[in-house]
Amino acid sequence: KRVQWDGKTIQQKRQAHIGPNLSLSYQQPLHMVRAFRHYLYAADGRRYLDTVNNVPHVGHQHPKVVEAVQQQAAVLNTNTRYLHTELARYAEELTATLPEPLSVVYFVTSGSEANELALRMARTATGRNDILAMDGAYHGHTSATIDISAYKFNGKGGSGQPPRTHLMPLFDQSEQPLEQAKARLEELSQHNIHPAAFISESILSCGGQLVPPPGYFQTVFEAIRSIGGLCIMDEVQTGFGRAGEAFWAFELQGVVPDIVVLGKPMGNGFPIGAVVCTKAVAEAFDTGMEFFSTFGGNPVACAAGRAVLQVIQEEGLQDKARLTGQYLMEQLRQLQQRQDIIAEVRGHGLFLGVELSQNGQPKAREGAYIINRMRAMGVLMSTDGPQHNVLKIKPPLSFGMKEADQLSEQLDTILKEL
Ligand code: PMP
Repeated sequence: KRVQWDGKTIQQKRQAHIGPNLSLSYQQPLHMVRAFRHYLYAADGRRYLDTVNNVPHVGHQHPKVVEAVQQQAAVLNTNTRYLHTELARYAEELTATLPEPLSVVYFVTSGSEANELALRMARTATGRNDILAMDGAYHGHTSATIDISAYKFNGKGGSGQPPRTHLMPLFDQSEQPLEQAKARLEELSQHNIHPAAFISESILSCGGQLVPPPGYFQTVFEAIRSIGGLCIMDEVQTGFGRAGEAFWAFELQGVVPDIVVLGKPMGNGFPIGAVVCTKAVAEAFDTGMEFFSTFGGNPVACAAGRAVLQVIQEEGLQDKARLTGQYLMEQLRQLQQRQDIIAEVRGHGLFLGVELSQNGQPKAREGAYIINRMRAMGVLMSTDGPQHNVLKIKPPLSFGMKEADQLSEQLDTILKEL
């Protein structure tokens, strides 16, 4: 029989046995017992609308994904040293969603592991060490990924910028971001710094749901490639149709990276991540040292991944993200007309940000108030950005117009309380 501990007991056990810096949302944490589609159900019987979890991409506990995992787990789950169909089938189906020449996949088990591998590949392929990353970014919890995550090394408990990491300034729409990027690249080359790679999310999540201005990645990619560096796009949060107009958010910028990093939504919660690269990068990475990840590409993970791709297709979730996103963005922009605290509403599809600032002052305290009041009203949200003043919206793609109405109406009510 499944035992359910009460929240207090769970907290006591966590305090006894789990590292103290494992974070919890909310001062009064929520105790969840089950989930379905875009709803989470708490132990006290309350239902919460999930506007923020981009892992259960096609909806929490989607029956098709659950069934695919159950069936494969009952038949075979082993490593990639044996031939099995799922790996080859998933690799083929996954690469079919990416533009040429991105055709080679390495399966791992998380976004951090995938970014770690992408960095190692870029360093091996170029014989260089330095990495150019976006300021404010987060790419993972491993040593090499923390080292390129300004969000961490410049944040609480961080030990500062490592010497082989270089940062690109976050684009500020009020300045000239392309000029700023060019100047930064020029500065690096004057210092004789030739990075192995430039890495960025296609839309910056920890940076505050920031959409790069048109031409941004093209400018940076050209400059990096002209000095023999590679371009890595982290699609861990933004991929698999979430951006609406495109299946991969980098496509919104008309660029094709050398390496793409995947994670979170890939298995709808089943732990799976991947690096997809060009044949040229894969060949340069094949130095004779074998690549092996015990759990990476196991048949159950591949079955989960295949089921996710199938559901996105069958339920038209990319288009749904586009339409729901447009509708929600319109609602939020109407709200912006009435509420001075909303400085900007931005994003693509169901990857949106609402920036709270007034007279150029970031409003983090108000953001925290909104998050807590939304929770009291049964809606889960969170804030992000270097100033913690951006409400981020990235729900499961089952989220529709009705839920968009609920979100904007409740936000409207709460903003009036400020
Ligand atoms: N890249 C990005 C953009 C992320 O948001 C995250 C996780 N928040 C990671 C990488 C790391 O993924 P994981 O937690 O699966 O290791």
